[in-house]
Amino acid sequence: MRLLHGKPLAEKLHEGSRERSAALHTSGIAPRLAAVSVGIDPAANTYLQRLAARGKKLDIAVDEVALSGDATERQLITTLERLSADAGVHGILLLTPLPGALDEGHIVDHIVPAKDVEGMNPFNVGLLADGRPRFVPSTAEAIVELLKFHGVTLRGARAAVVGRSTVVGRPAAYLLLKEDATVTIAHSRTPDIGAITREASVVVAAVGRPGFVKGDMLAHGATVIDAGINVMPHGIVGDVDVESVTSVAAALSPVPGGLGAVTTELLLRNVLTAAERHQRD
Ligand code: NAP
Repeated sequence: MRLLHGKPLAEKLHEGSRERSAALHTSGIAPRLAAVSVGIDPAANTYLQRLAARGKKLDIAVDEVALSGDATERQLITTLERLSADAGVHGILLLTPLPGALDEGHIVDHIVPAKDVEGMNPFNVGLLADGRPRFVPSTAEAIVELLKFHGVTLRGARAAVVGRSTVVGRPAAYLLLKEDATVTIAHSRTPDIGAITREASVVVAAVGRPGFVKGDMLAHGATVIDAGINVMPHGIVGDVDVESVTSVAAALSPVPGGLGAVTTELLLRNVLTAAERHQRD
């Protein structure tokens, strides 16, 4: 089984971004991302650290805007609206999941679409659904970019996405559809998920359950992308049961070492895109 490592793609993206960032700085624009968090969960925290480190290498400022875990909806919305109006901020990322009773679906309306680098605002969600993606959730984009980078055929392929969240499963399905795959989305109310995944040559696991996708749920020779990030006492594991999948799948993205680095670079690339558009407008 081939491992679909993310690092070579991440490095390629990084090189492209380095040039674009330098060009922006030359024209007097310092690209800046505001990463807004509310009380933070471990997975999101690791992501934020990596984002800041990679951003620094690209000369993209990553401002941590951390609200306390008991912040009100009004406080969060005010923060997003302030950043949306701040000409020095080019991208806004709201780290999820949000704690307590904060309603993410309603709150993301307050990230102005032009700075919505994680594609959370319904305007950007609508463009994706319409087949005209502008800013899309970076993990979903990383899934498709990793498949393309490793030469996996998507046109005409049967693809199964397990998970329908707005951040991973659903946008990944739309992007696969845009690549002319025939896509089925499975979720917690889907009976016999194995019957669906066994029909697919490309399987995306975005479930949030360690080891959910097992070898007997796959067709021989399938390509599997593991989007899972499950923090376990012994480290981070994905949503795929690597042991049973190894003898069945042709290729698998490892966790860690698969999507993570690509996701970060794509998000930072979106900040550059937002800054370039801001410069043009
Ligand atoms: P999520 O919001 O919890 O969504 C999980 C999805 O999996 C839901 O659609 C859910 O179905 C489905 N599901 C849960 N249990 C299932 C079961 N037993 N059988 C079938 N389907 C089931 O999680 P997420 O944010 O999409 O993340 C998925 C994984 O990717 C996690 O491991 C996460 O850490 C990782 N990840 C997340 C992000 C992020 O930005 N959130 C980024 C990168 C990676 P229902 O819709 O029916 O509930």
